[in-house]
Amino acid sequence: MRTLHPELPPIPSRADAVGEHLAGGGQVAAVLPVHYPRSLLRAFDLLPVEVWGPPVRDTQLGDAHLQAYTCSVVRSGLAVALAGGIDVASVLVVPHTCDSLQGLASLLLDLVPARQAVVPLYHPRVGGPAGTYFLAAELRAVYTRLADVTGRHPDDAALSAAIAREEAADARLAALLARQGSLPLGDRAFYTLARSREYLPAERFTPLADAALALPDAPADPAQVPIVLSGMFPEPMALFDAIAAAGGRVVGDDTACVGRRAYPAGRSDDPFVRMAERLVDGPPDSTRGSAVAVRLARLRGLVAARGVRAVLFLEVKFCEPELFYLPLLRAGLEADGVRSTTIEVDVTEALPHQAITRLEALLETVAP
Ligand code: SF4
Repeated sequence: MRTLHPELPPIPSRADAVGEHLAGGGQVAAVLPVHYPRSLLRAFDLLPVEVWGPPVRDTQLGDAHLQAYTCSVVRSGLAVALAGGIDVASVLVVPHTCDSLQGLASLLLDLVPARQAVVPLYHPRVGGPAGTYFLAAELRAVYTRLADVTGRHPDDAALSAAIAREEAADARLAALLARQGSLPLGDRAFYTLARSREYLPAERFTPLADAALALPDAPADPAQVPIVLSGMFPEPMALFDAIAAAGGRVVGDDTACVGRRAYPAGRSDDPFVRMAERLVDGPPDSTRGSAVAVRLARLRGLVAARGVRAVLFLEVKFCEPELFYLPLLRAGLEADGVRSTTIEVDVTEALPHQAITRLEALLETVAP
C-alpha cells in the first residue's frame, strides 16, 4: 500500500491487488501492451495485470530468442516469463500491437512454450464500422479461447456488468486527465494513480479516483514550466523526479499507457460490439494505425487546452510504431512554435544522464 496524498486512501500495490484477487478465488491474466478488453477478462474472473517492461536488469533469457534490435519491453517481458516471474498468471494475453509483440506471441505459442495459456489478440488497423466488425469477431474468438482455458461461460448479462464497471473506471481516468496539472498531486503521484489501472480491478480504481477528484485544485506555480508528455509509457518513473528538478510539470498526457487508453463508453447493446467500439473509438494511437494528421490534431488540442509550449516524447528504443510518427508530429508542432524533444529509453536501464540534459534544454527554451 502507498499513500499518495494525506487525504487519499492508500493505493494497493500490484502484489496487494493480485493477492486479494487470488484469495477471492479468481485467476490472473498477464497482459502485454497496449489495447485489450479488460471487461472480457473480468467477466471470466481473470484480473488483468499488465506487463510493461518489468525493470529487470538481466534480459539474457529473453535475448537468446530475439533479434538484437527488439525493444526492451519485449526482451524483458520474455525474460520475466521464462524466469517464472509471471507464474501467478494462468493466462498470457499478447495483443498484436507491433511486429515485435507478434513475434513474441509466435515464439511463446510454437518455440518457447509459456507456462500460461497464450491468447493472441489481433487489432484492426482501421476505425469505423469495418474495424468494429472485425474486432467484435476477434473478441468472440477470444471468448471461446478463455472459456476453454477457464471452464467458465459468462453470459451477456455478466459481460455487460463487467463493461459497465470498466466504462465507469475509464470515465474517472478521463476526468483525472482533464485535471492533470491542477490536482494537488505531483507528477509521480498522479501517474501512480493513473497507472494503477494497469492492475487494479475497476471497482477498486473508481473510488480511489473519485477521492482524488474530490480534492480541490492546487494553486498554479508560475515558476513551473508546463509540458505535455507523449510516447509509450513513463518508465523509468525517475523521469518525473528529473522533470521536477528541472522546474517542469506534466499537465497533459498523450502516452499510450494512460492518455490513449481513456476509452469512451460504447453504444451497442451487444457486449462484443460494445467492447470493440470502445477500443476502436479510443484516442488516436500509433499502435492502432491512426493517421498522423489525427494524432497531430490531438496533440495540438492538448497543447492549446493546457497552454503549453513544449512536448516531451519519451520513447522506447526500437519502438517502430512510435518512431515512424515522430518526424511528422514534431515538425507539425514546430510549425506552431511548440518545442519538442525525444528521449529514448531502455526499460532495463536507469534514465540516462543524456536524457536529463535534453529535458533541461527543452524546459530552458520555453521557460518564462
Ligand atoms: S515498445 Fe513499441 S516495439 Fe516495443 S512492444 Fe511496445 S509498441 Fe511494440
